[in-house]
Amino acid sequence: ENESSVSITVVGASGDLAKKKIFPALFALYYEGCLPKHFTVFGYARSKMTDAELRNMVSKTLTCRIDQRENCGEKIDQFLKRCFYHSGQYDSQEHFAALDKKLKEHEGGRESNRLFYLSIPPNIFIDAVKCASSSASAASGWTRVIVEKPFGRDSESSAALTKALKQYLTEDQIFRIDHYLGKELVENLSVLRFSNLIFEPLWSRQYIRNVQLIFSEDFGTEGRGGYFDNYGIIRDIMQNHLLQILALFAMETPVSLDAEDIRNEKVKVLRSMRTLRLEDVVIGQYKSHTRGGVTHPGYTDDKTVPKDSVTPTFAAAALFIDNPRWDGVPFLMKAGKALHSKGAEIRVQFRHVPGNLYNRNIGTDLDQATNELVIRVQPDEAIYLKINNKVPGLGMRLDRSNLNLLYSTRYSKEIPDAYERLLLDAIEGERRLFIRSDELDAAWSLFTPVLKELEEKRTIPEYYPYGSRGPVGAHYLAARYKVRWGDLGIEQ
Ligand code: NAP
Repeated sequence: ENESSVSITVVGASGDLAKKKIFPALFALYYEGCLPKHFTVFGYARSKMTDAELRNMVSKTLTCRIDQRENCGEKIDQFLKRCFYHSGQYDSQEHFAALDKKLKEHEGGRESNRLFYLSIPPNIFIDAVKCASSSASAASGWTRVIVEKPFGRDSESSAALTKALKQYLTEDQIFRIDHYLGKELVENLSVLRFSNLIFEPLWSRQYIRNVQLIFSEDFGTEGRGGYFDNYGIIRDIMQNHLLQILALFAMETPVSLDAEDIRNEKVKVLRSMRTLRLEDVVIGQYKSHTRGGVTHPGYTDDKTVPKDSVTPTFAAAALFIDNPRWDGVPFLMKAGKALHSKGAEIRVQFRHVPGNLYNRNIGTDLDQATNELVIRVQPDEAIYLKINNKVPGLGMRLDRSNLNLLYSTRYSKEIPDAYERLLLDAIEGERRLFIRSDELDAAWSLFTPVLKELEEKRTIPEYYPYGSRGPVGAHYLAARYKVRWGDLGIEQ
């Protein structure tokens, strides 16, 4: 509807995520003409700021895409004129009521729709939801709330958070964000599978030997370990981002592309998974390392991290799906900070060709000669398929070559940030890429027992040097399931 308005309130507007991601994404949507005609953006936080100061803060982080540089400045000015700020406490009904009054002025009697983006630490989620919903809900249109991870730190705390949220909101008002679901190549997973005949028929234990989900960062916590130390890499990356990718990868064909149909399938596959066991997990923590005269600090050298912390900054895990499609296929996850490379990939290793006529032309390592499909989520988005190919010439020698779809070569358009897709979906009420509470429960129940055991035993992580490939234990874990890790991004 043209005459309805949308107000977007960024709660915690003075924070890091708001500056880095939310305001830039809102601006990009504005630039593309994706925001409704009558929209207003409000920043809300305790910090004292005027509208002008908020605009100044926001303007520093706005950029235009390469193909949009021409009227960039003008667009930024227009966007900033729609941005306002309201200072208040997160637990004050009066302060939210005052925000409500300002929002009403901007809505000018139109139907009002309101989106609250909670970009604040988790311990104040509930206070803010309570106040926003009771004192600043839309009078006529919808009210939605985007919630950022962490959604609790185990099954119990997550269930408690869900229960508390549901005192004030219905499930369809809650948009739990996992920004990996907004990434172009993750969204493309379903397209690849369900609209190409050559993939879906191979998508099972019959042809797939193992699947690897790999996340790696080439830097450490660098003074921001305070939040991380309470969670660790399993909660920060595996239980959410990598598991979400796994669910999309492994789910059965949904009835349709509707949000509920897709999420039903994701819940089903998550519930078919075996609870992770301690012996199928390896944890690591990076230690200080000097290379080329430069000393990189270890995790516990971070001033915001307790000296005796055993929080994992690296983990590898073997997961299994006990259903007919995936019976016995190892899904290996690996995630770590301060490693030698950065990126996120899905690697699918296929089985050997039965009775391969060319085995003797391949060389000695038959394992390395199986087909492999790699989906590189970031950086340098790409999909490539490793095949055996005859080296041109008179002899008969095979080598491995790639059928390669490199996004930057194929598509000239810059890929939008995940937050743009997700914010737009929330405004449009598209729930496909947000996590439903039963999905979240299923995800936590896979990891909670292992997390508890690690913490109760205070398991000492395997230490690995900053900038290395991570603990050697990850290789033994993979080897136990006859898997060899792919090496992030080394071949293109
Ligand atoms: P942040 O900068 O630490 O906090 C956002 C704002 O919340 C701050 O500017 C501050 O605003 C207020 N705040 C901070 N600590 C508070 C406290 N103890 N009590 C009351 N208010 C407090 O957080 P962020 O990095 O922007 O992240 C926001 C949310 O997104 C968090 O839930 C985080 O876990 C999640 N997240 C962040 C990232 C990221 O890249 N940063 C990525 C994924 C998820 P005022 O003092 O002005 O009120």
